[in-house]
Amino acid sequence: MNELQLQEFYEASNETVILLLVDDQQMIVEAVRRQLTSESDLEFHYCTDSDQAVIEALRVKPTVILQDLVMPGSDGLSLIKEYRKNALTSGIPIIALSIKEDASVKSRAFEAGADDYLVKLPDPIELIARIRYHSRSFVTARKLDHAYRALRTSQQQLLDSNLTLQRALGELKRLVNSDGLTDLANRRHFDEFLQAEWQSANEAGSEISLLMVDVDFFKLFNDSFGHLAGDDTLKKVAGAMRDAVTDEAFLPARYGGEEFAVILPATSSADAMVIAESLREKVEALKIPHDSPEPTSVVTVSIGLATLSPKRSDDCKMLIELADKGLYLAKRGGRNQVAVHLVDGE
Ligand code: GH3
Ligand code: MG
Ligand code: MG
Repeated sequence: MNELQLQEFYEASNETVILLLVDDQQMIVEAVRRQLTSESDLEFHYCTDSDQAVIEALRVKPTVILQDLVMPGSDGLSLIKEYRKNALTSGIPIIALSIKEDASVKSRAFEAGADDYLVKLPDPIELIARIRYHSRSFVTARKLDHAYRALRTSQQQLLDSNLTLQRALGELKRLVNSDGLTDLANRRHFDEFLQAEWQSANEAGSEISLLMVDVDFFKLFNDSFGHLAGDDTLKKVAGAMRDAVTDEAFLPARYGGEEFAVILPATSSADAMVIAESLREKVEALKIPHDSPEPTSVVTVSIGLATLSPKRSDDCKMLIELADKGLYLAKRGGRNQVAVHLVDGE
C-alpha cells in the first residue's frame, strides 16, 4: 500500500458506523446493544415499531440496517421493499435477521432487497464484522458518488467558461475587423484578406478581381447637408454593398473615407462587371437626394474594376493601383459608372 492508499483506507475504516436495528423484541435490542458496547465508533439506534421504521431510518440516516424479518404490523420483508423504494434509503445496506436458518426465508429476504442474512443471535465477532463491512462499502460508494458528481460539475463549468471565452474572442475578432460606422470589413481586414487571396490565386493560377468604389461629389454633399447626413449616406451605401455582394467568398469593405472596395477571389472581369453594375444600380436606387451636379441629382458611386492573374513576383498593390486607375477613368467619363483600366499591352 502506498501512502495515499493507506490514508484512504484509514479514512474509510475510521468512518462512524451508524446502525439502525429494527426489531420488535426489546430483549433482542438489549442483547445486540450489549454485543456492540466495545465498539466506540459505532452509533447504535433502534426501533421496535415496524410502522415507524422508515421514518426512523430517514431521521437517523444509518449506514447499515439490521432488520428483523418477523414483526407485528408490517413484516420485515415489506419493510425491506419500502427502504428500497424510497430514494433516500434505497442504497443503505440491509442485513436481514431471522430466527432460523431457512433457505426459502433467506431467498425471499434477498429477493426483497436484503444484502445479507444472519440468524439471531449471531456470534458478536461475526455480527460486528458484517456490520462494519456493509457500512464501509456504503460510505465508500457514497464518497465515490460525491467525487464523481463534483468532477462532472467542474467539468461542466470548465466547458461553460471555455464557451464564454470562445464567444468573447469571436466578438473581439469581429470588432477588430469591422468598421465602426458601416459595420463592413475595415481597412485592416481588407489588407489581410487581399494578401491571403492574392497568395491563393498565385498558387492556384486563378484570377482575382477588385472593385474600388467612390461616392460622387461627396465633399459637396457634406457641405450642403452636413457631416451627420453624410455619415448616414455612407451607412446606406454600405447596405447597398451588402445587398449586391452576397457571396460569402467575396469581401465588401470600407477602404477609407467615402471609398469602399470589394475583393472578388476567383472571379473573371466579366463576372466582376455584373456585380459592379448591380452595385452601382443599387446605390442609385436608394434615391438619396443630392444637389450636385444638378439640383435634382441623387447620390451615386463610380467604380473602378481590375482583374489580374498574379504571378510569383507580383505584389497585390498592383491590383489596387489598377482598380484606382479604373476609378479615375469612371470619374473622368462622367461618374455614376463602372470602368476598367486595361493592363498595358492588352
Ligand atoms: P469625387 O466625385 O471626385 O469623388 O468628389 P468627392 O467630393 O467625393 O471627393 P473628395 O475626395 O474631394 O471628397 C471626399 C469627401 O468625403 C471629403 C470628406 O469630407 C468626406 N468624407 C470622408 N470620410 C467621411 C466620413 O466618414 N463621413 C463623412 N460625412 N464624410 C466623409
Ligand atoms: Mg474619394
Ligand atoms: Mg468621392
